[in-house]
Amino acid sequence: MKYKAFHKLSYGLYIIATELAGKKYGYIGNTAFQVTSSPSQIAISSHKKNHTTDKIIGSGSFSMAVLKKEVNTSLIGEFGFMSGTDIDKFRNVETITSKTGAPIVTDSAVAWFDCKVVKTVDLGTHMLIVGEVLDSDILSDEEPLTYAYYREKYKMLSPKNSPTYIERDILGKEEEPKPETTAEKESNSEKGSGSDNMNTFTCTICGFRYDPEEGDPTMGIPPGTPFEDLPDDYKCPICNASKEYFRED
Ligand code: FE
Repeated sequence: MKYKAFHKLSYGLYIIATELAGKKYGYIGNTAFQVTSSPSQIAISSHKKNHTTDKIIGSGSFSMAVLKKEVNTSLIGEFGFMSGTDIDKFRNVETITSKTGAPIVTDSAVAWFDCKVVKTVDLGTHMLIVGEVLDSDILSDEEPLTYAYYREKYKMLSPKNSPTYIERDILGKEEEPKPETTAEKESNSEKGSGSDNMNTFTCTICGFRYDPEEGDPTMGIPPGTPFEDLPDDYKCPICNASKEYFRED
């Protein structure tokens, strides 16, 4: 089996949220899709270990916010890689409610859906939850974020609880079919020798990979900056973890 084949499936990225007993719960999901049009139903696949899963089933409702392409990455860090038991994920985000009362995150969102749970299917590690859409709206004409863009731009992998999670070790063993482009060839020849401390480092919290050849433009780090030369107060652009949480690849 070729695991990288799964990367050819197209997904968006969404904030799935609910509220139960006065507390809000939410996570970033990429497995969400419309399954019927009449009535309009959306299905999500959510890990049983994800705290939000039980709460969605308990409350009988969930919201789904479609994230925009140039998403505020701190949203990905907090909703995708932090636990609601450690932080209040909703403390810095704008939310609204509609028919079901589930909180709808409007920050970095281009559209949203408010859904009533109508069916659940136990898939072993995950629950497939089908919701009937009771309300929806468009917030912006900006492009929605695709999972492929996110993975390419941030060198990220799915979090462990994602249905699309594949171990980095497995992916690393698979050959890349992509031929080297002319631009890459030039860039590779420019690198030349002496780049002995240009190893990549991975954030152990969220899986973001720092590549010295690219630097980190989001944090003002120019290409060609070895990890060792990053300022002491450098923080992971996705989850805000400090340098000590990074490990050399
Ligand atoms: Fe991180």
